[in-house]
Amino acid sequence: MPDVSMDTEANATVYKTLLESTKAIPWKIDWSTMRFAYIGPQIESLLGWSPKSWVSVQDWADRMHPDDRERVVNFCVAQSQAGVDHEADYRALTTDGHYVWIRDVVHVVRKENGEVDALIGFMFDISERKQNEEKLAQLQKELEALSFKDGLTGVANRRMFDTVLETEWAHAQRNQQALSLLILDVDHFKQYNDCYGHLRGDECLQRVARILAASLQRPRDFLARFGGEEFVIVLPETDAIAAQTVAERCLDLVTSAQIPHAESATSPVLTISIGVGTIVPGQDDVPRRFIDQVDNRLYQAKRNGRHCIA
Ligand code: GH3
Ligand code: MG
Ligand code: MG
Repeated sequence: MPDVSMDTEANATVYKTLLESTKAIPWKIDWSTMRFAYIGPQIESLLGWSPKSWVSVQDWADRMHPDDRERVVNFCVAQSQAGVDHEADYRALTTDGHYVWIRDVVHVVRKENGEVDALIGFMFDISERKQNEEKLAQLQKELEALSFKDGLTGVANRRMFDTVLETEWAHAQRNQQALSLLILDVDHFKQYNDCYGHLRGDECLQRVARILAASLQRPRDFLARFGGEEFVIVLPETDAIAAQTVAERCLDLVTSAQIPHAESATSPVLTISIGVGTIVPGQDDVPRRFIDQVDNRLYQAKRNGRHCIA
């Protein structure tokens, strides 16, 4: 007759070896005492705490990041009481004061009468996955920022302008306040490119964007690149007189930067032309028509000889 007890013992050794050589860290908690009956020795290489130091569930809770503790402990206790298998992600404290992201997968073991007998589970080190997730979230954020930003000049792009104008329009309409819009266009920029090359042209646009950004004074004033060598400025709660002042400042700042423009028929330095409009939006007004009106003013400024405001 085969020696059954030997077999069982041999099996136990195999199981133990298997359990303790996996990356997942096995553990068991007796439900009646809420104490660890077992935890794999791998826990020490992951967190630094020796298996002996895991005595009760309190040790488990204490070694959890304070921001995760309440959520995770409440969840695990509720699930265990309900006898439901579950899993939870949390940050576990290491002996040197760092945190490691862990996924704990828990199985509820019941007695024959249905009462909870023990919890057994595996802890998985998921810090790499969490790091990747965080990196991905960060990239996502940067991408969102980029898609609202003009790639060349770093100021807001057309898409952002549309959003901002819509918001400010609704605000002005609701409060019956004046909203002003400036459309600014570099004079003879085609010749600038022809004379100095496209790269210098790009640098010039970056410089103009910086000058215009610096000319704004109120926090809600908003600058965007409208396209090509055209910029727009939204001035909320700004009447026609104040808008004219801002336009004059923009015009002067660009001229006084003294960016040479040898081929310009208007001036030996780079100049801009500006169309200005102010509106207290009524119920029937729409932003699109307002933009067209201001754009027409810009062309009027061009017809009036450039380097001027209309
Ligand atoms: P005007 O005084 O009537 O505005 O003349 P203009 O030459 O500035 O006007 P036009 O709109 O005909 O030309 C704009 C030029 O701006 C043409 C285009 O090559 C140049 N441009 C548009 N976007 C860029 C850019 O991103 N970089 C560079 N370097 N040039 C650009
Ligand atoms: Mg243009
Ligand atoms: Mg131009």
